[in-house]
Amino acid sequence: MSALLRVEDLRVRFRTMGPMKALATGTKAPFIDAVCGVSFEIRKGETLALVGESGSGKSTIARTIIGLQRAVSGSISFDGQEIEGLGGAERKPYLRRMAMMFQDPVGSLSPRLTVRSLLTEPFRIHGLRRRDAGGEAERLLRMVGLPADFARRYPHQLSGGQARRVGIARALALNPDLIIADEPTAGLDVSVQGEVLNLLARLQDELGMAILIITHNLNVVRHMTDRMAIMYLGRFIEVGPTDGIFEHPRHPYTEALLAANPEPDPDAVLNRIELKGEVPSLFRRPSGCEFHTRCRYARDICSRVFPEPSTNREDPHHSFKCHFPLERETAMPLEQKPLS
Ligand code: SF4
Ligand code: MG
Repeated sequence: MSALLRVEDLRVRFRTMGPMKALATGTKAPFIDAVCGVSFEIRKGETLALVGESGSGKSTIARTIIGLQRAVSGSISFDGQEIEGLGGAERKPYLRRMAMMFQDPVGSLSPRLTVRSLLTEPFRIHGLRRRDAGGEAERLLRMVGLPADFARRYPHQLSGGQARRVGIARALALNPDLIIADEPTAGLDVSVQGEVLNLLARLQDELGMAILIITHNLNVVRHMTDRMAIMYLGRFIEVGPTDGIFEHPRHPYTEALLAANPEPDPDAVLNRIELKGEVPSLFRRPSGCEFHTRCRYARDICSRVFPEPSTNREDPHHSFKCHFPLERETAMPLEQKPLS
């Protein structure tokens, strides 16, 4: 399958203070590197998750793809066409084929618009005429399992789950090839989360779009995605097939994230691995492997040498950046190791 979206060596930097203020305060770097050389691709119909704690750069990647944020370098191509750096008008035909679902289900819908206007707004934004806007809104509501009379409601008259469904319907309006869903289950009750994920999965089956899911919810990742990329301080530290990574994480940070994930099975033993310390500040990146300040396997070399990417012997599509990747027998919480 060919790549629908290809991101290569993407770098995004934020200015945190003006040059004069930086000079006055003696700050050397009034910038932070939010995304540092990230590469990945999404094939048609595929689902990829970007996983990581907040501030790891996931949403910034999404915002850069849809042009809300400029990259300092790197490439973003959509269906073979470079789109990074294109101006608004040139980018529009490509943006029409991608839809973004923002994080807050109710807050991401303009409060003054009815559901009908919200659902037909993408046509107006892209200058596409619809003779039958009402019929279009009704069709989209039907697709996400909401009654036609919801078209008259305003966002504040919707529950979180209903608002999320409207968000999905709006994302589908122009029949996109790619949906970018930023925390699609955030703020929803657990039962509603399941409904929303099932709906997204069913629509993907029917319509065949690719989905980029941004989340820190590993249950979402496990149930929805083909591949996952784990981010730490703006870099990918492990990338590969979701099943393979869940079964055998190679990077200690991934291991800790998976172990901290509440198991839906109540009989399962919860193997928590406490991550020590806080996520380091982007202003003061640790030397060497940037995870060494929190890694329970860290050795001397880790704080000195940045680990180059390596790939899994069993699966060349599974890669990670660690000097001492976990072997099967070590990829188990210490307290769970069989006594010998
Ligand atoms: Fe831990 Fe060292 Fe691997 Fe970094 S390189 S994750 S510090 S073992
Ligand atoms: Mg975010």
